[in-house]
Amino acid sequence: MGMSGLDIYKLLPKTNCRECGFSTCLAFAMQLAKKAIETSKCPYLSEEAKKILESASQPPIRLITIGRDDYELKIGNETVMFRHEEKFHHPCGIGCILKDGLTLQQNIQNLERLQSIRLERVGQLLKLNLVAIKQTKDTETFVKTVEEISRRSQLGLVLMAKDISGLQEALKITADKKPLIYPLFEADEKLADLAKRYLCPVVVLASDLEGLSKRVAEFNNRGIADIVLDSGKKTLVGKLWDLTQARRLALKRHSRSLGYPFITVIDEEEPYEKVLSAAALILKYSGIILMDELRIEEALVLLTVRQNIYTDPQKPLQIEPKLYSVGKTTKTSPLLVTTNFSLTYYTVLGEVEASKVPSYILSVDTEGMSVLTAWAAEKFNAQKIAQAIQKNAISDVIDNKQVIIPGYVAMMSGELEEQLGWKVIVGPKEASGIPSFLKHISH
Ligand code: SF4
Repeated sequence: MGMSGLDIYKLLPKTNCRECGFSTCLAFAMQLAKKAIETSKCPYLSEEAKKILESASQPPIRLITIGRDDYELKIGNETVMFRHEEKFHHPCGIGCILKDGLTLQQNIQNLERLQSIRLERVGQLLKLNLVAIKQTKDTETFVKTVEEISRRSQLGLVLMAKDISGLQEALKITADKKPLIYPLFEADEKLADLAKRYLCPVVVLASDLEGLSKRVAEFNNRGIADIVLDSGKKTLVGKLWDLTQARRLALKRHSRSLGYPFITVIDEEEPYEKVLSAAALILKYSGIILMDELRIEEALVLLTVRQNIYTDPQKPLQIEPKLYSVGKTTKTSPLLVTTNFSLTYYTVLGEVEASKVPSYILSVDTEGMSVLTAWAAEKFNAQKIAQAIQKNAISDVIDNKQVIIPGYVAMMSGELEEQLGWKVIVGPKEASGIPSFLKHISH
């Protein structure tokens, strides 16, 4: 969120000397606000004004990258408080903590279980992003655990080391994977040196926002720019308060020291239902959630919440509008029409598959609207369906010249019959009625 023209004007010399090519400082300020011109065009800007304008041109919340290639996770660079204002950009990374106190075999099993969690929902593959390795034992055990997990991991890494020597050794092994450094010890010069040498982002921890601001300034002074913030252990309400205030300060007050994504660790001391806490913090405004335990059913809940929050509210999830064949279809298989809103299509698909009756589904381009919304907006009417049937040359695919429409749009059946010259069958209102309906008509 940039500064307004008037805010910028207050920082200018206000002499209207015209050297920038504009007749007034105000005109120059307006161009700067639109990012149509560079600050350097005014030779009389004070050092302080330059600094403020430069920092205002940076994204209000820094984009942080953890991992590389297939493991890459980008968080931050968010621009709004509320999803409906625009959208949330970089989905929260979700991961689990493995402790070096367990045997290697147990940790490897846990890693494999985490990596196998996959959910295909409305055409997207949802999976976890991170595995954190937490040091509870000596350096040697920690480093050995990091080595074994890193070798097998298809997830981004977080190194939760309790001393500098453990961290140093772990980084030697994992640096090419660009892990997130989460120090469990007092951060110092040596830590900053390691983060700089290996170009890894680092977690800055303090118990409140003021403390975080101070620590961020210390880290920035040591040359560290890639930072993830943690405001420590507290109640869910306290955490939500911190994250909301920090985002507000970063977006509305241009607070540079709080302009970083947050990480939240949800461990055994979490007083609330853990999944509830994690879900609330995905909504507002954690960039990473680390759980000390994550059962498959819990992971699926969190992955689904995240998917719903990080879609663009102005662009419903859509599928390609075309003819889909489900099962071993023939020229006499039933043809169902529906919209190209992902949730509608995949719900229909799931029920058609469950019916075990090979069928065609024609997804009509409704710009991602669901059945009744699209009907009300005249995107799913007799004319549009008839056009889709012609465009997809359905009469070459099936012989029986009949089409099944959703029960909710039964009112268009007469008009569609007239337009197509086909038999129009009114299907069930709810997708759950599809299996018995298909079994019934195919006998
Ligand atoms: Fe104002 Fe600077 Fe432009 Fe002169 S060069 S008119 S001081 S903005």
